[in-house]
Amino acid sequence: MARIVILGAGISGHTAARYLGKWVGKQHEVVVVSPKALWNWIPSNVWVGVGEMTEKQVTFKLAPIYKKINVAFHQALAVSIHPEGGVEAEQPYVMVEYTDPSRQGETAAITYDYLINATGPKLNFGATPGLGPDGGYTTSVCTPAHAIHANEELQAAIAAMKQGEQKTFVVGTGHGMCTCQGAAFEYIYNVDHTLRQAGVRDKARLVWISNEYELGDFGMGGVHIKRGGYITNGKVFAESLMVERGMEWIVRAAVKKIEPGKLTYEVLDGSEHELAFDFAMLIPPFAGVPMKAFDKDGGDMTEKLFAPNGFMKVDADYNPKPYEEWSKADWPRTYQNPLYKNMFAIGIAFAPPHLISKPMQSANGTPINPTPPRTGMPSAAIGKAVAESIRDMLDGAPEPTHTASMGEMGAACVASTGSDIFKGTAATMTVFPVVPDYETYPEYGRDMDLTFGEIGLAGHWMKYILHHVFMYQAKLRPGWSILPD
Ligand SMILES: Cc1cc2nc3c(=O)[nH]c(=O)nc-3n(C[C@H](O)[C@H](O)[C@H](O)COP(=O)(O)OP(=O)(O)OC[C@H]3O[C@@H](n4cnc5c(N)ncnc54)[C@H](O)[C@@H]3O)c2cc1C
Repeated sequence: MARIVILGAGISGHTAARYLGKWVGKQHEVVVVSPKALWNWIPSNVWVGVGEMTEKQVTFKLAPIYKKINVAFHQALAVSIHPEGGVEAEQPYVMVEYTDPSRQGETAAITYDYLINATGPKLNFGATPGLGPDGGYTTSVCTPAHAIHANEELQAAIAAMKQGEQKTFVVGTGHGMCTCQGAAFEYIYNVDHTLRQAGVRDKARLVWISNEYELGDFGMGGVHIKRGGYITNGKVFAESLMVERGMEWIVRAAVKKIEPGKLTYEVLDGSEHELAFDFAMLIPPFAGVPMKAFDKDGGDMTEKLFAPNGFMKVDADYNPKPYEEWSKADWPRTYQNPLYKNMFAIGIAFAPPHLISKPMQSANGTPINPTPPRTGMPSAAIGKAVAESIRDMLDGAPEPTHTASMGEMGAACVASTGSDIFKGTAATMTVFPVVPDYETYPEYGRDMDLTFGEIGLAGHWMKYILHHVFMYQAKLRPGWSILPD
């Protein structure tokens, strides 16, 4: 009997756990280590952030779900990986610190035959002084608790506007190297919609601020999309959405510091500017979660397993090259660690080989460019492919049998632009592939039959239905495994 340990129960880790539990949970031991008792459908936090959903609607308890498929759950934080064994055990193991209230303060070494690192991002609010709700001056929708706080601030602003006050809302990215623009993009439209529903939109100035070179870059180097029979680019699509709703935008901006009611940002020519706000929701930059790695003698080998940004190295080509020479072939396919073949990193936890958007620097050398997104759909697809590979390796396959390269897979994103069963809308975008492939698709880098964008009420219904489908699937309700990931 082998033991497969999965670190992290987010979108990618939970996908891998579901399938491994179903396929090999009876013959082998599948163990999930994750610090929170609740699973969270993160995309719907945007709706919690405008009071359209409650925390209960976007979360559920993990332990009873894992029981259904013979997966052991440890509510704990992984702190170090010992891929060659060490003081605690001869076998490879992970050191964990329990966050489970009934085991608070306990630590344990959990040995493994296969390890999947699915720990997602560290929300690196500390990279920008004053950023974030915990000790800073901005809100966030990255966790349910953050989103509840954002909604409280939003409702307080609405109450003041109803008394006649004017307010400035700033939404976007809180650092020059953020990814996840899509979440902020969704949020600004939901704020706009909420203000309109409350009858106070005329008292609000809405400003988008981001590190993208152009609107609609989304860290994917921009996108050309098919829309109504025409090919247009993401910039035009995104700009027209903002113009239609009376929003302003600032791009090519690195937010440098936030003080009460005021943020300072730098732009590419190196100049710094200030922007006053009453309410700000800014996404933090992502880093890998803090985990160390040690060899069998206790020597620190963190740098061997992890890239400088803290994400885990996998089967990508990390050799530095000029931007013009980057290709989809640099991107990982199996997500296997090159040094330890029984170790994989999936979802946001794997280190991308390079940016997708063109690297840019201000005149002062400040990087101002989006980092690569690893959104929900690719994260789940990668989680499933790695689960399939491990299942087959347990059966004797000498190497991973399944691949899921972001240069060969598409992604769909339905960005809510206002939640309402009749008046709601959503922008639906699909891209194929996520990493542009100019060898196969020389003109735009993407297959234009599979890359399109549209906005409308049908998109809102789709987003709403997807929320329920993914919650149903994640709860392992009957037939979950035939639903698309
Ligand atoms: C507000 C918001 C809206 C979004 N909307 C969309 C959308 O509409 N569509 C879309 O495709 N994507 C969306 N995304 C992106 C999507 O949420 C991510 O792509 C996805 O969650 C990544 O999955 P993951 O498994 O890599 O990380 P996560 O889902 O973040 O999971 C990481 C897991 O690891 C756990 N963990 C952390 N540290 C440790 C540790 N040391 N040991 C063990 N476990 C640990 C965490 O608690 C968590 O359970 C959105 C993101 C945000 C923030």
